[in-house]
Amino acid sequence: MAYINENYFKLPGNYLFAEVARRVLAYRETHPAADIIRLGIGDVTLPLPAVSVEAMRQAAAEMGHRETFRGYGPEQGYDFLINAIINHNYKRRGLTVEADEVFVSDGSKSDCGNIQEIFAIDNVVAITDPVYPVYLDTNVMAGRTGALGPDGRFAGVVYLPSTAENGFAPSLPETPVDMIYLCCPNNPTGTTLSRAELAKWVDYARKNDAVILFDAAYAAYITEPDVPRSIYEIDGARDVAIEFRSFSKTAGFTGTRCGYTVVPKTVTAKAKDGSRHPLNPLWNRRHSTKFNGTAYIVQRGAAAIYTDEGQEQVRENIAYYMENARIIREGLTAAGYTAYGGVNAPYIWLKTPDGMTSWEFFDHLLQEKNIVGTPGAGFGPCGEGYFRLTAFGGREDTEKAVARIKEG
Ligand code: PLP
Repeated sequence: MAYINENYFKLPGNYLFAEVARRVLAYRETHPAADIIRLGIGDVTLPLPAVSVEAMRQAAAEMGHRETFRGYGPEQGYDFLINAIINHNYKRRGLTVEADEVFVSDGSKSDCGNIQEIFAIDNVVAITDPVYPVYLDTNVMAGRTGALGPDGRFAGVVYLPSTAENGFAPSLPETPVDMIYLCCPNNPTGTTLSRAELAKWVDYARKNDAVILFDAAYAAYITEPDVPRSIYEIDGARDVAIEFRSFSKTAGFTGTRCGYTVVPKTVTAKAKDGSRHPLNPLWNRRHSTKFNGTAYIVQRGAAAIYTDEGQEQVRENIAYYMENARIIREGLTAAGYTAYGGVNAPYIWLKTPDGMTSWEFFDHLLQEKNIVGTPGAGFGPCGEGYFRLTAFGGREDTEKAVARIKEG
C-alpha cells in the first residue's frame, strides 16, 4: 500500500495566480471588447540581453561538433560561470566567496524551495509576512508545520509581520526560531532592509544559532546605497547565512532558467548529539544527488552578462523597468493612493482605499479600470489590505494603466 504525503492537504487549494486568471477570464467572457492591462504576474517582458543570445548561439554550435560537444557538466556549475559570479558580485565588493561555495542551478525557486531538506524536520521556521509563498509552502509540504488556522496562519510557523506600521522592517521573533527566511528586496512589497536592519538579523542568528535563508533575487534592482546587495556585506553573515540569487529578473532568464545559491563553508548547524557540522557539504550532496547541472548553453548565456557589454545591456533593461516603477508609484501617489516600494524593486505595494479587502480591490480595478494586479492577501495574512502592481509591463501599457487610475 502506498500512502501519500498528507502534508500536501494542508495547503489551500486555490493558487493565487490561478484565481486571478479565473476572474480575468470570467470578466473577459462578459466584456469581450475590454482592453485589459496586466500588471499582475512578476514575469519580465523585455527580451534576453543580446550578449546572452549570442553566447548561447555559439554554445549551441559547440554542442553540434564532436570536438566541442559537452555532456554532463559539473552539478555545481562550470568554473567559467562560478568565477564570473564571484568576481562580479562578491570580490569586486570586497566580499569573500569561494568557488566551492557557489552552486549554479536552474533558478532560485528550486533552491529556496529545496534548501529546507538539509534541515531537521522539527526546526522552527520564521518567515516575513507577506512574502514570496515558496518558502512557506515547501516547509508545509515537508511537514515542518501544523495545519492552516482560521487566521490564515500555519500552526508552528513564526510569522514576522512586515507592514506600513513597522516600515516593512519586521521585529525579531519573540519565541526561538531556527530557520529565518528573509527576502530583500522583498516580493511583494518592493521594500528593503537597511544595513542596520539586516545586521540586527545577523546578530540574532549568531546569538541564537539560527540560519538565515536570504533571497536576493531582486538585488540588481537596488538603487539606494544603504541597502546591502548581498547579506555577506554584513559582518558575521558568513557564519549564519545562505544566499539565493537568480538571473531571472536580473537578465530576463525567467524562461531560460539559471540561478545560484551561496553556502559558505563557515555556516554550521548542530546534529541532535550536539556535534556541529557545516551545511555546505550537505547542500553539495543534495544538489549533486538530485540535480544534474544547468545546461551548458544556458550557463554560457548567463556568464555573458558579466562582460562590460553584458552589464550595459542588463543595466538598460533594469532602468526600463525601474522607470515603469517610478511612473506607477508617482501616478498612484498623485491619484491619492498610499504606495510603497518601487525604488529598489520592480514592485509597487499600495494600500487599498476605503478599507477594501485586497480581493475587493482586485475586482474593482479589473471591472472599473480593466487593470489586473495581484491581491496582497495571496502573499500572507499581513498582505490583506494591500495590492501589488509590477513594473515588468511595457511602457505604453504602464502609462495607460496609470492614466486610467488617475482618471478617478
Ligand atoms: N525569489 C523571489 C523573491 C521571487 O520573486 C522569484 C520569482 O518570482 C524567485 C525567487 C524565483 O526566481 P527563479 O526564476 O530564479 O526561479
